[in-house]
Amino acid sequence: MQDWDVIVVGAGAAGLMCAIEAGKRGRKVLVVDHAKKLCEKIRISGGGRCNFTNIHTTASDFISNNKHFCKSALARYTPYDFLDLMAKYQIKHHEKTLGQLFCDNSAQEIIDMLLAECRDAKVSIKNPVSIKGVHPLPEKTGMPNFSLESSEGTLTTHSLVIATGGLSIPKIGATDFGHQIAKQFDIPVTPIRPALVPLTLNEDDKAFCKTLSGISQDCIASVKKQSFRENLLFTHRGLSGPAILQISSYLEPGKSLCIDLLPGQNIEDELTNEQNKKKSLTNVLAPFLSKRFAQEWVDRKSQNRTPADLGSNKLKAIADGIHKWVITPSGDEGYAKAEVTLGGVDTKDLSSATMESKTCPGLFFIGEVVDVTGHLGGFNFQWAWASGHAAGHAV
Ligand SMILES: Cc1cc2nc3c(=O)[nH]c(=O)nc-3n(C[C@H](O)[C@H](O)[C@H](O)COP(=O)(O)OP(=O)(O)OC[C@H]3O[C@@H](n4cnc5c(N)ncnc54)[C@H](O)[C@@H]3O)c2cc1C
Repeated sequence: MQDWDVIVVGAGAAGLMCAIEAGKRGRKVLVVDHAKKLCEKIRISGGGRCNFTNIHTTASDFISNNKHFCKSALARYTPYDFLDLMAKYQIKHHEKTLGQLFCDNSAQEIIDMLLAECRDAKVSIKNPVSIKGVHPLPEKTGMPNFSLESSEGTLTTHSLVIATGGLSIPKIGATDFGHQIAKQFDIPVTPIRPALVPLTLNEDDKAFCKTLSGISQDCIASVKKQSFRENLLFTHRGLSGPAILQISSYLEPGKSLCIDLLPGQNIEDELTNEQNKKKSLTNVLAPFLSKRFAQEWVDRKSQNRTPADLGSNKLKAIADGIHKWVITPSGDEGYAKAEVTLGGVDTKDLSSATMESKTCPGLFFIGEVVDVTGHLGGFNFQWAWASGHAAGHAV
């Protein structure tokens, strides 16, 4: 039997940050993970360069049943705090776009930094370790609160931190362990689904997208009042690219999204312009949409005639189709391709200052397992660092 002050289950971004902070406070910390290789998600993130934070992070970059929940942790551990840590290790980085910070070299530098910080804080890390059961212990002052049946034998701890992330990319070790533990302790879990995920289409739309596969187009993708102006990417399975990943987090299954394929322009003016009336529709649209896109779009929507052949109603309909392309996806590419899991452990049960359960003292949930989901662009790691930091100061 091994007794610990803190056991963290999950050696990902949030778990390691929590362990570092708790270790620095002199707590005896054990981190366990069932994966053979640690921090795989950090390693593959941002195309191997890890978009580790976003300098413009605010609470409005997160989706949660309680939009205020993340504020306290984000305020106490900001992107600049993480940058200070990176500076200590001289890890070079750059801003790609929209405040998104990436490593210049490799995500491995961040993993090495976190593991070095764990060593300095005397944190023990064991993997692969599987947890077969978690049991609450009778309340006795000074005695551990939980015992864990593990492949390493029985482990007991005063604070138990669940940092097992979401369900995306099961092949690198994602499980619903955190949600199951919440349920075991009667802590509610909000409905979960894949988010930041490519969308799949019905056969007709899919065939159309397939012909455009590889084309990327600036657009505004909208669902109700939420919209994102970024690139859309046509793929042979459907729609992807940053604009689509972002809006996927807001799109309820079976509902439609609206795409403006020419934001900030008025294509109806071009279509009705005297100078263009004898040109083919493809040639009028091509300067704005790329020749291949214009060709396919025109072929699909109408025969390739000249604006002069079409009445003003028809031209308006063509313009509307470009500025307000309404599409109803058949689904999404699921957890195998999703960057994150929307929903999770209900924040109603958690303290926003410490991430500790209000109904089960000593039990903490941090990172993606919680019902706090960031937009694309480094926000999910910032939440992992900030919530891990908050719990690390409380355990
Ligand atoms: C392909 C991809 C790219 C991404 N790129 C970015 C990006 O550039 N920027 C960004 O901000 N976000 C990105 N994300 C999202 C980001 O990686 C996650 O939100 C973040 O890693 C969550 O941190 P976490 O510590 O909560 O969980 P994770 O990092 O997922 O860590 C969870 C850990 O728990 C372990 N675990 C799971 N189940 C068990 C169990 N039953 N027993 C023991 N251990 C268990 C896992 O092995 C894992 O090590 C990306 C996600 C993916 C899938």
